[in-house]
Amino acid sequence: MTRFIFITGGVVSSLGKGLASAALGALLQARGFKVRLRKLDPYLNVDPGTMSPYQHGEVYVTDDGAETDLDLGHYERFTGVSSRQSDNVTTGRIYSDVIAKERRGDYLGATIQVIPHVTEAIKNFVVSDLTDEDFVLCEIGGTVGDIEGLPFLEAIRQLGNDLGRARCMYLHLTLLPYIPTAGELKTKPTQHSVKELLSVGIQPDVLLCRAERDIPEGERRKIAQFCNVRREAVIPALDVPSIYQVPIAYHEQGLDSEVCRYFDIDAPAPDLTRWEKILERVTKPEGEVSIAVVGKYTGLLDAYKSLSEALTHGGIANNVKVNLDWIDSEIFEQEDTVQHLQGVHGILVPGGFGERGVEGKIAAATFAREHNVPYFGICLGMQMAVVEAARNLAGIQGAGSSEFGQCQNPIVGLLTEWERDGIIEKRSTESDLGGTMRLGAYDAVVQKNSRIHEIYGSDNLSERHRHRYEVNLAYEGELAAKGMVFSAKSPDGVLPEIVEIQDHPWFIGVQFHPELKSRPFEPHPLFTSFIGAAVEQSRLV
Ligand code: GLN
Repeated sequence: MTRFIFITGGVVSSLGKGLASAALGALLQARGFKVRLRKLDPYLNVDPGTMSPYQHGEVYVTDDGAETDLDLGHYERFTGVSSRQSDNVTTGRIYSDVIAKERRGDYLGATIQVIPHVTEAIKNFVVSDLTDEDFVLCEIGGTVGDIEGLPFLEAIRQLGNDLGRARCMYLHLTLLPYIPTAGELKTKPTQHSVKELLSVGIQPDVLLCRAERDIPEGERRKIAQFCNVRREAVIPALDVPSIYQVPIAYHEQGLDSEVCRYFDIDAPAPDLTRWEKILERVTKPEGEVSIAVVGKYTGLLDAYKSLSEALTHGGIANNVKVNLDWIDSEIFEQEDTVQHLQGVHGILVPGGFGERGVEGKIAAATFAREHNVPYFGICLGMQMAVVEAARNLAGIQGAGSSEFGQCQNPIVGLLTEWERDGIIEKRSTESDLGGTMRLGAYDAVVQKNSRIHEIYGSDNLSERHRHRYEVNLAYEGELAAKGMVFSAKSPDGVLPEIVEIQDHPWFIGVQFHPELKSRPFEPHPLFTSFIGAAVEQSRLV
């Protein structure tokens, strides 16, 4: 029997609902249960794919090609369960499906309304595409009280009746702000936020209370009394230095026991050994390396969430702390790279869109290549490394990417045709922007005797993509003659997936996003290898 846990948030946004959901998923998994995590997002975009990373942080891509909320990345990293298209939905998607159905005439003349039609579509989504999961944790984006969130709250309220309360639990995340002048943690915002939930008919069963310091017993009792929950169901969620400490911290405060008590399940205690090991590695590294991340969205670190986690995982694998130096690539269009990059142990140029700052990324690649500093280019970071090599190694005049307008030699050009599962996908400059990139997991064939073959230890790989442009195979010969080889390609041999400079300590560019598949328990081999190269570099400088 699948049980559902609905996670809402109150008081303020950015409380870490995604992490809390992921941590609870990990705890239930550690007790032997099969879990699945889902996110309902109340905004009107059909998916976050067209949103600026500054608005919404990173777009997380699943194997089956969905562009989703970054919280799905936390879910995967904490539970190891790969997310699917059916794990994230938005108001935009729900409405476009309901309207399409109405246009087809599927509603047989009915007046289409939020209740019951929209709520029905949300409920169908929540219970769809499940097999033998013990728990589905379903996070509702936004904050209780948001207008857009109402249909979602109504839908999960109805599910409590449809499925029965024995199969549904409501967990509410709140904040207890500390007021220095009073020297107290305040419970009133929590009381108000629970009232807000009650006004839509939801009585929370467990309250997870974020606070920067210990919640005194008196406050816990007060919250229990005013919010109509058991005292044991008021769980303190205190700030911790590492996100990988969260599952252990929540367990110590009794979160998973309370959930099992609610569902009346007699489950074995969780086996948290793997979390203890990770924490040990994160808190007691044997050395440190510094990596410069030269990107465009450095003002909002959520824009590179999976990337910074994957670098941490590379550190875990090498037993070092990875210090990240976020550099806005535009700076290299005015200032010399040397003063910023001298002494770093590795340079990473991440994915991105649009022209701003690309010349700075190219300058970072030049620095890495010329100074023998490990270089890792991801997607746009790979494309710019190839343009750099074309210009400065192969001497190709006017080498550029057609993403930024016409150029004499489009080393990187629009991807107009590719194959997915035996079907040819076609695109042109006229195509819509939403959901039309080359998205999701694609296989690639790795060239033997390459560094990448050594790193993956395999002839084949499967990685997640999200791009519209592609390195042009026509330049392969000229670049290879100067030492940059295309060491992995799509199985049909037409799309370059990886480039490397073999006569360099570590210079690799990948067309896909390896960071999306890295997990603390299974650091991605590319990040393990890159940080390993940075450790070597740190011994030299
Ligand atoms: N803008 C480039 C493209 O569309 C790179 C995309 C990316 O870095 N994810 O191909």
